[in-house]
Amino acid sequence: MPHPDTWLCVRPEGLYCKPGDFFIDPVRAVPRAVVTHAHGDHARPGHGAVLATSQTLAVMGVRMGVERAGDVQQALAYGERLRIGDVSLWLQPAGHVLGSAQVAMEFQGSRAVVSGDYKRAADPTCAPFEPVVCDVFVTEATFALPVFTHPPALAECRRLLASVALFPERTHVIGVYALGKCQRLIAMLRQCGWDRPVYLHGALMPVCEAYERLGVPLGDLRPATVAAKAELAGAIVLAPPSAIADRWARRLSDPVTCLASGWMRVRQRAKAGGIELPLVISDHADWPELLRTVADVGAPEIWVTHGSEEALIHAAAGMGVRGRALRLIGYGDEAVDG
Ligand SMILES: [Zn+2]
Ligand SMILES: [Zn+2]
Repeated sequence: MPHPDTWLCVRPEGLYCKPGDFFIDPVRAVPRAVVTHAHGDHARPGHGAVLATSQTLAVMGVRMGVERAGDVQQALAYGERLRIGDVSLWLQPAGHVLGSAQVAMEFQGSRAVVSGDYKRAADPTCAPFEPVVCDVFVTEATFALPVFTHPPALAECRRLLASVALFPERTHVIGVYALGKCQRLIAMLRQCGWDRPVYLHGALMPVCEAYERLGVPLGDLRPATVAAKAELAGAIVLAPPSAIADRWARRLSDPVTCLASGWMRVRQRAKAGGIELPLVISDHADWPELLRTVADVGAPEIWVTHGSEEALIHAAAGMGVRGRALRLIGYGDEAVDG
């Protein structure tokens, strides 16, 4: 049985599968790409052929324009097997954002799984992560430090709603990433019983509409830009992280500035960003989830793509698992994904 390092390798464009002649989440335009999910650091424009879940293709089309989301777009459902060259491939839910997938590949009896970004915590907007037993597990490590133990996300939502109840005249403006975090936060607020409108910065509307078209209900969403100031008193407004501190937020009614991100676990970051109410809500696996996943996939070896590689490799060694840092460049941009 060939070791995965004989058929899966790192090239400047990204992770490359030789017997299938395709790249996974390449950072440059390539003839054939498999894309794990539609975040900007994984889904780049201009590829020849793109293979992904139908949801990922749809969201890529919304974000970059259909014509830039691949000359040929092929959708593959979770669990559906496809032969590419000498490789058998399928997509497995990653639990990160709607449509996100792990890429499982088999070549001559040897199996490698590329996680893309993933989490194990519940998310009402996407299918839950499913571990695949494999020989090499290629994992992200965004929050691979013991300090990153995320609290239950619903508890963070309840903290937000308690603050809204405490300051009924103020507007809570929450910085969220446009794809994933925004829709997950809305869906969780609905789970917590918030049935009033959620107001959105214009940049967040297109992906929310795409989620709804793809069958994820988000309730009453309204553009914050056209709402009267009085209407926004006591309201919840979502905006991209870059907008919450700038001129755009100033016209809101005495805003309480919030940010929903795994990085909010680090208090200094919240303080430096002027965040009054940090919400630790992450779409990435935290430290215990990473370790649990390494155990679940049962791989004798893990390759770490981006994040805190050293800590995860050290912890894996303690579990009898060999680790290797791939040092891929171009992933994990905090501005789009955290
Ligand atoms: Zn991502
Ligand atoms: Zn990422």
